[in-house]
Amino acid sequence: MAFTHPEVPPSRSALPASAWARICAARTRLLILDYDGTLVPFRADRMSARAGEPLLSRLREVTERSTLRPVVLSGRPLAELRQLLGGSGLRLVGLHGWEEWTPGQEVVEHAPGAAVRERLEAAARAVAALGWQERLEVKRCALAFHTRGLPPAAARDREQRVGALWEPLGRDRGLRFDRTHGGLELRASERDKGTVVTGLQAGAPEGTLVAFVGDDATDEAAFAALGDQGLSIRVGADLLPTAAQYRLAGPDQVEAFLARWTSLLPARETAS
Ligand SMILES: [Mg+2]
Repeated sequence: MAFTHPEVPPSRSALPASAWARICAARTRLLILDYDGTLVPFRADRMSARAGEPLLSRLREVTERSTLRPVVLSGRPLAELRQLLGGSGLRLVGLHGWEEWTPGQEVVEHAPGAAVRERLEAAARAVAALGWQERLEVKRCALAFHTRGLPPAAARDREQRVGALWEPLGRDRGLRFDRTHGGLELRASERDKGTVVTGLQAGAPEGTLVAFVGDDATDEAAFAALGDQGLSIRVGADLLPTAAQYRLAGPDQVEAFLARWTSLLPARETAS
């Protein structure tokens, strides 16, 4: 495996030996993974972004062999994550932390305050007034405006016009605006991937190494929250600045990372 640093083009990067040494030395490990762009490539039709059987079986194996149940942490609604990954044994956290589910347990839903919900509804109406509601995904605690699949000039134009509406709202207390891969996102900011990772880290036994793998602007909060204490990996070829310690080029390299991660786990630990 090549020895690289985050600034090395991701097409040539993989984790350095020092990272694997930390993974091996940890008393326990907690693996947290984003979904779109990390485990699976993006698709214009979002529900066709499915994990293939080899990846699903890899995820099941990681879960079976981990002391701490691995987590998928995504901006997608929990219902979609359950449809895509329900049989994997993974703990699923949707809507950037507003919805959670552990297999065998009840779904936990958190709700933002009324003022935040009202501002999200107003932001949705503003997009509908432009006639672009077919590109608008209204989630319980967030809005996503999708431009994937549009010709580049049309995507830029729409992102500019919707961004002009949403960006000022994202500066208000309680909301956050992000330009993501394939669109824009406005969401309730009291919870984000950073607060989720911090909570999982706080709940893990002492000596646990928390690793987070993600690919997008909304994953940066998790990289920053982990800091030097955890292990953070940004996926993708965009080479945008990142708080992550390492880079992987794409879902293929993530699958190879998972294979090596799994091979380092004891054979008969039980997920809890
Ligand atoms: Mg992603």
